[in-house]
Amino acid sequence: MKINSLFYEEFKEDILKCTLCPHQCILYPNKTGICRVRQNIKGEMYSLNYNDVTSIALDPMEKKPLFHFHPGEKILSLGTWGCNLKCPFCQNYEIAQLKPPYQKKIYPNAIPSLMENYDVQGVAYTYSEPIVWYEFVLDSSREVKYANPDNYNVLVTNGFINEKPLRLMLQYIDAMNIDLKVYSDKNYVKILKGGLEPVKRTIKIAYEEGIHTEVTTLVVPKVNDNLDELEEEFSWLANISKDIPLHLSRYFPAFEYNEPPTDINFLEKAYELAKKYLNFVYLGNILSSAHEDTYCPDCGTLLIQRKGYDIKIENLNENGECKNCGRKICIV
Ligand code: SF4
Repeated sequence: MKINSLFYEEFKEDILKCTLCPHQCILYPNKTGICRVRQNIKGEMYSLNYNDVTSIALDPMEKKPLFHFHPGEKILSLGTWGCNLKCPFCQNYEIAQLKPPYQKKIYPNAIPSLMENYDVQGVAYTYSEPIVWYEFVLDSSREVKYANPDNYNVLVTNGFINEKPLRLMLQYIDAMNIDLKVYSDKNYVKILKGGLEPVKRTIKIAYEEGIHTEVTTLVVPKVNDNLDELEEEFSWLANISKDIPLHLSRYFPAFEYNEPPTDINFLEKAYELAKKYLNFVYLGNILSSAHEDTYCPDCGTLLIQRKGYDIKIENLNENGECKNCGRKICIV
């Protein structure tokens, strides 16, 4: 189903400018933007993927990954097709960079009853890029909140969005995991076809607006496996808050990128470096569950033990404080 886009303006007669993300694509009649899901049809901009659901699953919250938001709960996860970045190592390229032949048609007003069927309180917009699914995510997240204000919405996103649409969407969003893919504007532009500053702005705004914010960096050989550059990222993040959880994930070959998987020793070094700046750092996509547990940054008490998706919450009181020293832990 096509639906009118919310963010565009006329550029010249019959030519439109999309203002949803920093690409600001100029669309001639019938053309689609870089994301392939917004099209100029007779002088109006349409979202082409409005109620196209390519993936639907009940996932552990930790799979998003969100380690400090409703730990151990399950969340209804929905994805569509399309993306506004072009990462050559895309781990979900079948839906992000290609259009799968079949999509389930689901309308936003059906989401609350789907949640009831799955017996969950939250929805994650994930797998492909929710920014280019904007109108659906906005409508669905509103329905989710109207059904019950205690329900929650989660975005798993690349963060490459303009400020105005971001702020409008955030009114219904409770938590975000934002990819900070490489701490170099040059490589964001050259390799990913995006830009660093808009992603940094999204992280900052999300945190300042009180959205529970976690950040993921997929460590990719020859893209961002550079400790000096990673240290700049850690330091920048710590300046916003040392308590923002950071997930350093191991890359595996996918889509158009064939470098071998990230060296575990390098990931360990990056982990140790990140810990100098940030209180909560986790390693993901590795077989061992070392570096997945949560410890109190003040007294070192084990707070949450994770073995894969087996979660044990220990030593945290009802107010989210360490039972041993009383330190407030950023866990929702
Ligand atoms: S959302 Fe799509 S069409 Fe709009 S500016 Fe971004 S890439 Fe271009």
